[in-house]
Amino acid sequence: MSDEEAKKRTSFEKYRLRRLIEVLESKKGAHTELISLYIPPGKVISDVTNYLKQEYGTAANIKSKATRKNVMEAIRSIISKLKYFQRAPSTGLVIFSGAVPTSGQGTEKLEFWMVTPPEPINIYKYHCDSKFYLEPLKDLLEEKDTYGVIVLDRSEAHIATIKGTHLEIHKKLTSGIPGKHSAGGQSQRRFERLIEQAGHEFFKRVGEHANEVFLSIPDLKGIVIGGPGPSKEKFVDGDYLDYRLKQKIIGVVDIGYTGEPGIEELVGKAESLFEDLRYTEEKRLVQKFLEMLVKNDEKVAYGEREVREALLQGRVDTLLLSEGLDILRVTIRCPNCGYSEEKTVMKEQLQKLQEEVAQRACPVCNSSLLTVEEVRDVIEELGELGEQTGARVEVISTETEEGQQLKQAFKGVAAILRY
Ligand code: ZN
Repeated sequence: MSDEEAKKRTSFEKYRLRRLIEVLESKKGAHTELISLYIPPGKVISDVTNYLKQEYGTAANIKSKATRKNVMEAIRSIISKLKYFQRAPSTGLVIFSGAVPTSGQGTEKLEFWMVTPPEPINIYKYHCDSKFYLEPLKDLLEEKDTYGVIVLDRSEAHIATIKGTHLEIHKKLTSGIPGKHSAGGQSQRRFERLIEQAGHEFFKRVGEHANEVFLSIPDLKGIVIGGPGPSKEKFVDGDYLDYRLKQKIIGVVDIGYTGEPGIEELVGKAESLFEDLRYTEEKRLVQKFLEMLVKNDEKVAYGEREVREALLQGRVDTLLLSEGLDILRVTIRCPNCGYSEEKTVMKEQLQKLQEEVAQRACPVCNSSLLTVEEVRDVIEELGELGEQTGARVEVISTETEEGQQLKQAFKGVAAILRY
């Protein structure tokens, strides 16, 4: 798999992983009987199986009969599923297995999950507890690279960071320096000197706050500084920033605004400096769609129904799904004659739909057994449809302006088409 292909897969796979972690986190064993198993990339599976057999032997000594039975059953299920592997896949293999109480019935059911992580997990660990061990998977989702941003002129400064999809403004500072021409005549030179001095004091304050914010970030990847006019160069050239941070300046960018619009402008202009940053990538993806739409290019589609149709025809090149999408795809089925239909509903309308379906008769055989059988998250469902037809599937957060637009103006689903 090439790097480009790897990238294509990550945002959707990460989304799925995030959802899976939520599910696994909600599972609690009655005792120490939930097994988590992390197998590193390429590990010979017969070694793992031998290890599990030992654990199986040890489990035979567990005093509580119910726990003993559950642990042994969980280990057996893992061994039987591992039969199909000789070695762990290139990113490793993670397995969760255990008896989980079924809701409200006081009984337990053996549940099993097998995960091929989207990125390598180099851990070999067998863990038995009343909950699943999820930290290594969560670490994988944690965005590691952070960039620092300073936007300033001589009247105000904003200090911000961008990590993954998240932009955070840490500090807003104002100098109180009056406009250029508020004095004149013979006091002009004295006035200019005072302004100069006040500017110096202001930059010192900006530097102190920037040092405080940025030095506390252990893996800061780079700093970009921008603003209208010459203030930014003065700030960069002067000794206002800690020398360790000065070394991390990757760009000084001329922009038209300060404040939050200035930050947005800077991120857009300096996009190429922010390497692999999801924030700029998401903006770019949605912008591309918007540009095509504005140009009346016919190779776009939006809205769940239209995009679904394009997906089924295999016409989708890039599928954009908003993380803020809260709709479900349900299958209604008649167990008597096999009739089925699919419907899309808002999450909060699911219960109402279930009640309605229970009242309805099957349109084919008239039986009263019609039920909502399958409920799927539309992001996952459409995403899989995209994968099957070779589309690039992108799950877009609502953290950027463009992401908000995707969610609100296009109901969370948009696509760039092949033809
Ligand atoms: Zn029927």
